[in-house]
Amino acid sequence: MSALPEKSAILPEPRQLPVYDAGCRRCARLATFLDAVRAVHPSYLCRPVPPFGAAGARLVIVGLAPGLHGANASGRPFTGDHAGILLYETLHAYGYGSQPRGASRDDGLILDDCRITNAVKCLPPGNKPVPAEIRACNDYLAADLASVPDGGAIVALGRIAHEATLKALSRRPATFAHGAQHRLDRGIVLFDSYHCSRYNTNTRRLTPEMFHAVFDGVARHFGHHGPGAPQADRPAAVAR
Ligand code: URA
Repeated sequence: MSALPEKSAILPEPRQLPVYDAGCRRCARLATFLDAVRAVHPSYLCRPVPPFGAAGARLVIVGLAPGLHGANASGRPFTGDHAGILLYETLHAYGYGSQPRGASRDDGLILDDCRITNAVKCLPPGNKPVPAEIRACNDYLAADLASVPDGGAIVALGRIAHEATLKALSRRPATFAHGAQHRLDRGIVLFDSYHCSRYNTNTRRLTPEMFHAVFDGVARHFGHHGPGAPQADRPAAVAR
């Protein structure tokens, strides 16, 4: 009778998720680019930008990557970036943000039951991470998404965020489409939106109405209607 194989030969290794690492230099191209940007802009963060908002929030927004003079400078996702204008206005309108603008890390903005992160934590040259960088950063995103509670919602801003989210959650690829909703495990729904970038908003590929419609879908998923989620519909204890 042949011996049973080792347990580890049968079961896949559990995925070890890293915690956010401000000193991460996994991607040589991004790390050396940040070194060069820091030399020109010594006051900028020029490091991986951590998520903003408490772990355990029911709503997680997944962006692409920090912008040069925005998140990469301020150290907070979408803060100082043109893309943050529509995002923070919308989060405020729907009751997730204490104020409609994100100007700097110490502007007093508080997110309620919402967290913002990026598929790639470091500023990429030309705002374009390469596939290997998106893969290298994916377990940081997986760690960010691991704390989404049952029945939560994830809004992916753009195709890259959508693909990175599905990969981080070990889901099969699905087609990205603005306005699409994808049912994931544990009652979590992934909502697709075009990215609220300057290009998309200036060309009106993404209008405020289109963006709001995505958040209306999130509100319906959470069981309330329209902007400004009533307090009664929110979980009693969400740490900020
Ligand atoms: N700033 C971010 O933090 N993420 C984006 O996707 C765009 C701008």
